[in-house]
Order: sequence, then structure tokens, then C-alpha cells
Amino acid sequence: MQEVLAALLRLQELDQHIFRAQAELKRLPAERGQRLAEIERRVQKLADTRNEAQKLRVRIKELEDTSSAHRLRVRKVESEAASARQDMALLVAFQHEIRTLKREMNSCEEQGLELVGQAEALDKDATAQEAGLESEKQLFGEYDANVQGELAAAQKRVDELGAERKKRLTGAIPPEALTSYNRLLAAREGQALAELDGRACQACFIDVPANVVVRVQRGSELVPCPGCSRILFQRG
Ligand SMILES: [Zn+2]
Repeated sequence: MQEVLAALLRLQELDQHIFRAQAELKRLPAERGQRLAEIERRVQKLADTRNEAQKLRVRIKELEDTSSAHRLRVRKVESEAASARQDMALLVAFQHEIRTLKREMNSCEEQGLELVGQAEALDKDATAQEAGLESEKQLFGEYDANVQGELAAAQKRVDELGAERKKRLTGAIPPEALTSYNRLLAAREGQALAELDGRACQACFIDVPANVVVRVQRGSELVPCPGCSRILFQRG
């Protein structure tokens, strides 16, 4: 059994590195995806701001058109009023219409001014967003190049370590021992074995019962830690 344990220890040496490199292979794309999603969110926000400013401009144009039409109508009514000086009732009606038209023109102009202010504020906001987005995109470009390099390195490492692992998977390890070792490796963050120092498990730091120490020292079986289930070993 000491031989099995020694073979598992040699495997463990590699597996902790494999586990770390595999974690990088998962972490890096996830992190990259988050940063990309943040950029997309900002692109969308910029488009929304521009769209809002555009809608205001359409509305401003409508107000201006209404105002111009009213101005023309006022001139026409004024000239009609001039030629209807004898008809008092008609004159009153024309004057009433002119007052109404001028009131509406004023209101259009006030609204227009207000909206121009809002549109300018949105334009300013969009320009600032755009500058921020540009520098963010540039940073992402640099970051992305690094990530691709790190991913390639991690993949290369996993491949090399995997090849070395195959060499170390000798017949010294019985299948059932390998199965429980692999299961522990996945469940315990790449660390399936734990050193026993005196009575203390060096992975979960509990003190194991004396009979567990005796069983580990006897070395006739694989002994799991009662705290973390890792396979216990002692430095000889
Ligand atoms: Zn433990």
C-alpha cells in the first residue's frame, strides 16, 4: 500500500498544477465575457442617449414648423383684417384668431428652447460617454491580447502535464484507488491527499483520532481523513 500511496503522491504533484491551469482556462474566458458584456452595455447606453437626442430634434423641428405656419397665417389674417375694417364682427373674429395664433407661437418657442437645452445636454453626455467607451475599448483590446496569451499558455501547460500524467499512471495504482483519488481531486480543489503531521491533517487542520494515526503508520490501507476525506500520508 505504501507503493500505491507513493504513486498517488507523484500523481498529486502534477494534478495540483493541472487543476490550477484548468481553473485558469475557465476563469479567464468568464472574466473576459464579463468585461465584454460591460462594454456592450455602454455601447447600448450611448445608442439610447443619441436616440433620445434625435427624438428631441424631431420634436423641435415640429414646433418650429408649427410656429412658421402660424406666422404665415398671422400675416394672412392681418391683411384680411385690414380689408375688412368696415365689418366689426369679422374684425373681432380676426383679432381673436391673431391673438390665439401668437399665444400658440410663443408657447411653441418656449417649448422649443426648453427642448434645445435638453438635446444639448444629451449631446454633451453622449460625447463624454463616447470618449469613455473609446478608452475602455482600447483597454479591452490590450487585456484581450493578454488573455489570449495566458489561455494559450495554460492550455499548453494542461497538455504537457496531461502527457506527463499518463506516464505516471503506472500499474502501481489499483483502479478503485484511482477512482476514489480522482473523485477527491474534483471535490477537494485539486488536492486529494493530505499530509498527517503528528495528529493534525495539514489540509483541514483537525486532529485525527489516535487509531487513524496508527492505521496511517501501518500503511496497509488508504486511510481517509475523518474531517475532509482526503487520503492521509506521512512524510517518511
Ligand atoms: Zn483533513
